[in-house]
Amino acid sequence: MLRNMDNCSKYSQSVFMCNDIYRRSTFDKNHPLSIPRVPATVDLIKQLEWLPDNVYYESSIASIEELLRFHDADYIEALRQGEKGQGLSKEIRTLYNLGKIESPIHATMFTRPAISAGAMIAAAEILSSNIADDSRRTIYSPASGNHHGKKNRASGFCYLNDIVLAILRLLDNGISKIFYIDFDAHHGDGVQDAFYDEEKVFTLSIHEEGRWPFTGALEDRACGSALNLPVPSNFNDNEMDLILDKVVIPIGQKLKPEIIIIQCGADSLADDPLSKLKLTNYSLWRAVRLSATLSNKVLVTGGGGYNPWSVARCWAGVWATLNNYDIPSELPAGAEMVLRKLKWSRSAGRNPPEHWFTTLSDTRNNLPIRNKIRNIIKTVNEQC
Ligand SMILES: [Zn+2]
Repeated sequence: MLRNMDNCSKYSQSVFMCNDIYRRSTFDKNHPLSIPRVPATVDLIKQLEWLPDNVYYESSIASIEELLRFHDADYIEALRQGEKGQGLSKEIRTLYNLGKIESPIHATMFTRPAISAGAMIAAAEILSSNIADDSRRTIYSPASGNHHGKKNRASGFCYLNDIVLAILRLLDNGISKIFYIDFDAHHGDGVQDAFYDEEKVFTLSIHEEGRWPFTGALEDRACGSALNLPVPSNFNDNEMDLILDKVVIPIGQKLKPEIIIIQCGADSLADDPLSKLKLTNYSLWRAVRLSATLSNKVLVTGGGGYNPWSVARCWAGVWATLNNYDIPSELPAGAEMVLRKLKWSRSAGRNPPEHWFTTLSDTRNNLPIRNKIRNIIKTVNEQC
């Protein structure tokens, strides 16, 4: 197991970052994040023998000083006090958007997001310390990707913004061209806002239009450092392919980023309860595979995703995609058992379809490309 950061060059070219804290869900059972997304992903990957010891990095907690690079001291203190005392005054809860259904007070409300942040800061350190060489480096932290977090406020299940903290570390280490792509069903508002007028960071978000947080309009280009592609409900695989081929990849090829960061929220999948997009995991794997060609230094995170089966199958497949592992058409017994053991309190969880247990790959849908998508692509290409 790799822990020591003293010599970053010693790390395997492909690193998987995680921590056992994600096995201890501390969200109420009605919270969308109470499902064991990350443990199921890790267990699937282990069962498929895709996780040799020399690629696994046990992430550790970010220091307060590291968190202060983006977050306000008073807000960090509120998170710590909430975790310690399991309660906060009404005034503090209102001030920092804590203690609501969205961002409840719970037993690891500081530690858990601070470990996700620690992973991303470590990833930034490893990637920037290897920037001078041409070698390929890929880091995957499925438990990170909290793209809504604000400097002084919890937002959209995100207490700390681990992506912003990683990008700030990259900038501090002299990286000057970063491309951030966000495939989550929700606009990556926290990351865009943090780098609104930072020309070294270009953020691109594909998300469902008219959905919370209701930002990320097509016209919103920040100060020229962002691109937003709000897509209609029922967004399908062919539409995603076209947007990738006509917008995302050409922009990335023009940018030539030193580092690419990919937020692979799985709530854009058809089976997710919190969005109305219709992607299959074919689309997200292709998106990750093509986006990862845009730079030799690649950082991939998880994000949203609230159906335990679709998230675990998708995120395990992301790791296979990044490492060119063959995804079997039928899962071996041990991997199938990981999926069969999952429970989900929502109605769709009572009678899951058989293929959620026996396969990783969804059957790609083959739906028509709507004019609305063609118009979005045309508008964007006229702007850029
Ligand atoms: Zn989301």
